Amino acid sequence: MRYLSTRGDAPVLEFGDALLTGLAVDGGLYVPERWPSLPRPLSVYRDLPYVDVATDVIWPFVEGTGPGAMTHDELGAVVEAAYTGFRHREVVPLHRLDGGSSTAAEEYVLELHWGPTLAFKDIALQLVGHLFEHELQRRSTTVTIVGATSGDTGSAAIEAVRGREGIQLVMLHPAGRVSDVQRRQMTTVTEANIHNVAVAGTFDDCQDLVKAMFGDRPFRERMRLAAVNSINWARVAAQIVYYVTTAARLEADRRPVSFTVPTGNFGNVLAGHVARRMGTPIERLVLASNRNDIVTRTHRSGVMENRGVEPTTSPAMDIQVSSNFERLLHDYWPGEPAVRGAPVAEAMTEFRATGRLVLPPSVAAAFTAEFDAGAAAEDEVAATIAEVWENDRYLIDPHTAVGVTVGRRLALPGEVMVEMATAHPAKFGDTVARATGVQPELPDHLADLMEREEHFVELPDDLTAIENYVVRTCGG
Ligand SMILES: *Cc1c(COP(=O)(O)O)cnc(C)c1O
Repeated sequence: MRYLSTRGDAPVLEFGDALLTGLAVDGGLYVPERWPSLPRPLSVYRDLPYVDVATDVIWPFVEGTGPGAMTHDELGAVVEAAYTGFRHREVVPLHRLDGGSSTAAEEYVLELHWGPTLAFKDIALQLVGHLFEHELQRRSTTVTIVGATSGDTGSAAIEAVRGREGIQLVMLHPAGRVSDVQRRQMTTVTEANIHNVAVAGTFDDCQDLVKAMFGDRPFRERMRLAAVNSINWARVAAQIVYYVTTAARLEADRRPVSFTVPTGNFGNVLAGHVARRMGTPIERLVLASNRNDIVTRTHRSGVMENRGVEPTTSPAMDIQVSSNFERLLHDYWPGEPAVRGAPVAEAMTEFRATGRLVLPPSVAAAFTAEFDAGAAAEDEVAATIAEVWENDRYLIDPHTAVGVTVGRRLALPGEVMVEMATAHPAKFGDTVARATGVQPELPDHLADLMEREEHFVELPDDLTAIENYVVRTCGG
């Protein structure tokens, strides 16, 4: 498999290079040159362990011809290592809801939060951490990953690379502007390759510092800077797997099974789209937005328009622009994959400059035909958390509640509706407690989080100070 940039003006790469490169040099995102088929019939996956399905489904994306391309057995070992730390034997268990108002024939919540940081990003990032380690060892090289976080992605990235050989990680967070639980999930990690910095500034300042480090070419090359950001293709590949295992388990080859996906950067639901392209029978893919509903508005109007962002109780979905949407745009753009890059680049440049993009009619039509979409207001989110607790004695987090709200609103009689639980209720415990009167408990491995010793340095919002720290702690 080879990878093209969505903007068509970057080298075509095999998997290992696309993995380590992240963002393409033309500013685009890497996409596979074609969609592979599921290696085996869906029914075969019904009884296989998660890691076996994952190895099978991810393999066509990894398979290469270049020197040192990964073997199937190596991929199997990496996948196994990535998911052994999950706290549930099935990795992504299904929970049936019986008491709700859904018109669906059956309603399920797919629990994607059994990884170390209690959110679905672990499913992708645990795999990416192990894949990075594998590639770096093979190339006998090392990297320094720098990142900025407003809360959640920081801990998922830290958990993904803690103790991994050949990787140093420096994570910047805005001092005093992340919650105690979020900070402690990052700063109580003791491995020597993890370095936390509290920056005297805002999240935007942290992000600007990271961009400035990447822009400082001598520094970037000396430290071999890398990123594990949301646009890495390997993250999408990892997320395809649970659509396949769930479709198999619910016998989607014999009856209609639909998914509702709480959506922010469009990474999760894009994986559903790819699963479908690979032949997974998915009846409907339903996008669920919170009040920051750019994706839902684009779906309705065919016009993508940036209207800024307002904070909600589901902060991981508070986005202005869904970065992975560019991959869908590229998939729908008319013409052969190799010639779509230039017009997609033009469209993205226009969107960046004006905050507005009118989708070509064929693209808008395909988007409407293959997805459904809805948005949930804040009072609906709270009401859904309360309702699911009342009827099913089951606690859901506010992101999941966005999905359940929209999934119930749009469910059709006769279909099986699966709503994705993207975070554990304890991760957003205060919102859950406000809606239900019940404070969800942190799982055992985090129960003593508030007593653990923290490790971080405080630095000013100053590029030289940050770079000096990176050199000092990571070696240059
Ligand atoms: C990241 C995240 C989302 C949004 O997922 P995308 O792939 O960005 O669409 C939803 N819920 C939670 C809890 C998340 O962490």
